[in-house]
Amino acid sequence: MTAVDLRDTEEEAGFRAQAREWLRANVPDRPLPSGDTREGFARHLEWERRLYDERWAVVSWPREYGGREASLWEWLAFEEEYYAAGAPQRVTQNGIFLLAPTVFEFGTPEQRDRILPRMAAAEDLWCQGWSEPGAGSDLAAITSKAVRDERAGGWRLSGQKTWTTRGAFCTHLFGLFRTDPAAGRHRGLTYFLVPLDAPGVTVRGFGRLDGDEGFAEVFLADVFVPDSDVLGGVDEGWRVAMATTGSERGLTLRSPGRFLAAADRLVELARSRCAGPRLRERVVRSWMDAQAYQLFTQHQVSGMLAGDQPGARSSLNKLFWSELDIELHETARDLLGPESEVDDAWSRGFLFSLAGPIYAGTNEIQRNIVAERVLGLPRA
Ligand SMILES: Cc1cc2nc3c(=O)[nH]c(=O)nc-3n(C[C@H](O)[C@H](O)[C@H](O)COP(=O)(O)OP(=O)(O)OC[C@H]3O[C@@H](n4cnc5c(N)ncnc54)[C@H](O)[C@@H]3O)c2cc1C
Repeated sequence: MTAVDLRDTEEEAGFRAQAREWLRANVPDRPLPSGDTREGFARHLEWERRLYDERWAVVSWPREYGGREASLWEWLAFEEEYYAAGAPQRVTQNGIFLLAPTVFEFGTPEQRDRILPRMAAAEDLWCQGWSEPGAGSDLAAITSKAVRDERAGGWRLSGQKTWTTRGAFCTHLFGLFRTDPAAGRHRGLTYFLVPLDAPGVTVRGFGRLDGDEGFAEVFLADVFVPDSDVLGGVDEGWRVAMATTGSERGLTLRSPGRFLAAADRLVELARSRCAGPRLRERVVRSWMDAQAYQLFTQHQVSGMLAGDQPGARSSLNKLFWSELDIELHETARDLLGPESEVDDAWSRGFLFSLAGPIYAGTNEIQRNIVAERVLGLPRA
């Protein structure tokens, strides 16, 4: 058996130290307002544009798109330092962490050059258009359609998308549309990139449980999109979309740094309270689970660097991080007692953690995927 050395190499340690120094000097002193409010979103963008100016927005990307060509290990180190420094949540995450890996994999050189630099610079802001009123878990049930406009060299999109996170503040949407109604459910779908200021698009924001207005419904009425905004081939959309959902469930959306930092904050909170043995045990369990998630991710990254694609196993990540997030926040709430109602950071974090088992595909669906496609159990 080969021993794995998980310590930073000298180069990685140098990269980490540079990131830490910059973040310590630049992270806003006070938390920004929620990025799911209009005011907060604008403040977050200011921060993200600073990150971009200093080449910290997309560290693993090529230099010509604003990155530093950081390795996967360096990216993980950056994420750890980012959260440890208490830096703001990234409101551009649906672009840089979900769409971008798909553009790198399926985009033409023209699409990469056109889309990625503006995304990195937080000039184009992307939201995700999968869900529809009649299609959530069963994504292949989508009915929004795209009809070929041969003369104009493109497609005419119609239908309704819903639950688009921060859609009310974004400039572009990526989503699936039915291009061949006669084909089977998973076939005949195409992945489109849609500017939200195109004629025929109506975006209607609506509120969430915590009062923020970051969700939107997007209505499309005969919206023209040129052929150059098809990502990955006509009728190939399902395969392309699965690459995006793999990023959302797997490595990129919820890196371990986020949970390691939360676990450290939880330990600090426990030190400042007089917690009984059962609560102390839950604090220790949460901290250990955050470390375990880091080890799990490191295992996955080692595999990826050896040429292994996680595929359906990204559903395991999703189960791990979404349940861990609730565990951390529930423990904090119990430590705080009634005070948790007035502790904004933990209480908002708790409310948002409850959404974790729903977004990025519900945990029931992830368990089905793990059962059938990772463990090879018979279909239910
Ligand atoms: C915070 C948040 C952000 C989101 N952001 C976006 C976004 O940006 N873009 C976007 O397109 N969507 C987004 N969504 C929507 C999300 O993807 C859907 O809510 C999710 O896929 C579930 O779909 P649904 O709400 O229609 O529930 P349904 O599919 O109706 O499911 C209802 C319940 O039935 C269960 N269920 C359904 N089918 C099965 C099955 N076969 N086996 C077992 N159980 C089953 C589900 O697990 C769930 O508990 C977001 C959701 C949340 C909460």
